[in-house]
Amino acid sequence: MRYILFTCLSLFLLSSNAQNQKSLSSVKVNASKQTITQKPRLVVGIIVDQMRWDYVNRFKPFFKSSSGFTRFINEGATVDNTLIPYLPTVTASGHACVYTGSVPALHGIAGNEWYDNVKQKKIYCVEDANVQTIGSSNNAAGQMSPVNVWTTTLGDEFKLASNFRSKVFGISLKDRGAIIPAGHSANGAFWYDSKSGNFISSTYYGKSLPTWVTNYNNLHRPDSLYNLDWNLSLPASVYEANCDVDENKYESTPFGKEAKHFPYALKSFIAKDYGKISTTPYGNSLVEELAKQAIVNEAMGTDDITDLLAISFSSPDYIGHSFGPDSWETMDGYIKLDELLADFFNYLDKQVGKDNYTVFLTADHAVANIPAFNSKHQLPAGLSSEAAIKNEISSMLTAKGLNANLISNISEDNIHFNHPLMDSLHISQDVLIDLISSYLEKKPEILQVVDARHAASAPIPASLRERVVNSYSAQRSGDLVIINKSGYVDGFATGTSHGTLYNYDAHIPLLFFGKGIKKTSVHRETYMTDIAPTITTLLGIQMPSGSIGKPILEVIQ
Ligand SMILES: [Zn+2]
Repeated sequence: MRYILFTCLSLFLLSSNAQNQKSLSSVKVNASKQTITQKPRLVVGIIVDQMRWDYVNRFKPFFKSSSGFTRFINEGATVDNTLIPYLPTVTASGHACVYTGSVPALHGIAGNEWYDNVKQKKIYCVEDANVQTIGSSNNAAGQMSPVNVWTTTLGDEFKLASNFRSKVFGISLKDRGAIIPAGHSANGAFWYDSKSGNFISSTYYGKSLPTWVTNYNNLHRPDSLYNLDWNLSLPASVYEANCDVDENKYESTPFGKEAKHFPYALKSFIAKDYGKISTTPYGNSLVEELAKQAIVNEAMGTDDITDLLAISFSSPDYIGHSFGPDSWETMDGYIKLDELLADFFNYLDKQVGKDNYTVFLTADHAVANIPAFNSKHQLPAGLSSEAAIKNEISSMLTAKGLNANLISNISEDNIHFNHPLMDSLHISQDVLIDLISSYLEKKPEILQVVDARHAASAPIPASLRERVVNSYSAQRSGDLVIINKSGYVDGFATGTSHGTLYNYDAHIPLLFFGKGIKKTSVHRETYMTDIAPTITTLLGIQMPSGSIGKPILEVIQ
C-alpha cells in the first residue's frame, strides 16, 4: 500500500513536474517569441559623409518636410554632444568607428590610407589585391574588401547572433563608405564607379552582381538625373540671407571653371562624365534608389531575424570640400537630403512597416570652414601643407649632415621614421624626435608635435590626449603626430577639409528613431564609439569585438 501510494505520488509529482516543465517551457517559448517581436526587423544605419552637428538646427527652418531630419526630433532621440574620440577625423576611420564601436588603435583603420610600417608602403583602407571587380571593366575600382579592418562590426555581430541568417548590406558612392560598414561577413557591399556610372562590387562578396543591381545599373539613372540640372530648392533670397555669397574666389569649381554659381547646368555630362554627379545632391538619390532596391529584392526586414542596411551618403562630403559649410551649395544639398530622407522613411513605413524598423543617423566626421572665409571674418585660420613639411624636414636634415630619407612618409598628420635606415646609421629615436619636433613646433600653424608612443603623457588636455592614444597602432601609425592650431586646413586656396580634433571636425550629429527608441534628447558627452553598443544593447546581442563605447541607455525604451 505504502509502495503503491508512493508510486502514485511519484507518478503524480512526476507528471505534474512534467506539466510544469511543459508549461514553463511554453512560457519560455512565448516569452522568447515576444522578445524577438519586440526587436526591430531591420536596422538602417545612415552615415552622412561630412555632416556637422549644428546643420540640423541651422537648416531646420528651411526643411520642406516634417518627416525627414525632423522625424528624429518629433518621434525619436537626439544625442547632442557626440564627439569623435580619435584622430584623424576622416571617412574611413569614421565609418569604422561607427560600425565597430572602436578606435584606430584596435580596428586598425588609421586613415583613408596609411603608411604600413611592416610592408613599408602606403595602403588604401579597403584595398585588396586578392579580389576582382564585378559589375564594371574598371579593374582597379573593385579590388576592395574589408580585410584591413581588425575587429568585428555591427553586421558581423548580427550574423553571429542569428546563425548567419541576418541579411547585411552596405551601399555608398564611396567604396570605403559601403565596405567598412557592411563588415566582414556581409551579403554584399555596393559602391559607385565614376568611370562607368554603375554600382559595382568585388569577388569578396560573390561571383557576379545580384540581378537587381544590374537591372538598376541598366536604368542609367545618372544620365536622367544630369538632365534635371542643379537648381535651388528655395528662392535665392533665402540663401542670400543665410549663407556666404554664392560666387567667390575661395570656392572650387567642380563643374568647370566657368560654372561659378547657381544654377548649375549638368546636361553636358550625360554619357560623358559620371564623376560629376558625386558633387551634386543627385549622388544621394543614386544611393537611396539602390537602397530601396536592396530592401525589396533581398526581402530585408520581413521576418524576426534582424537585418542591417548600412547606407552612407557621400555627396555632402564632395559638396562640402568644394564649397564649404557656409555655401549655398551645402545648404541646398541638405534641404534636398531632408526631402530624400522623408521619401526613404515613407518607403520603409510602407515596405517594412512603421513599427518594425529602427534608424540611426550620424556622420563620419564634420568639417572646417574654408580658411579664407574665416580670415574674411577675422577668425583664426590658415593653410598647412604636409608636402611642404616633408620638403622642409628633408632640407633641415640635410643641412645637419643627416640623410633626408630618414623620414619614410608623412600623411594624415603622422610622420613615419625610416627605422631600417635609422638602425643602419645608428641614429636614435630620441635624437630624431627632438630634431623634428623642435623644428616643427616653431612653425606658426603647429600647436604641438606629439611623440606617438608616449602620447599618454603629452602636455595637452587629458581628453584630447586620449584621442591621440586611441589612434596609435604600432603597425600603421607614425612616430610623431602633428597637431595643428585651430582653423588650419591641410589643403589649397579653394575649398576646405577635415581631419583634426577640433569641434568643427569632431562634433557630429547622432539621431535615432523607430522600434525600441524613446522620444528624448540626451545632452551629456557621448562618443562615436557608443553607437554600436547602443544598437547591440537594443537587440540584446554581443557588441563588436573591439568596442570600447558604452550604450546610450537613455535612448532605449
Ligand atoms: Zn572628406
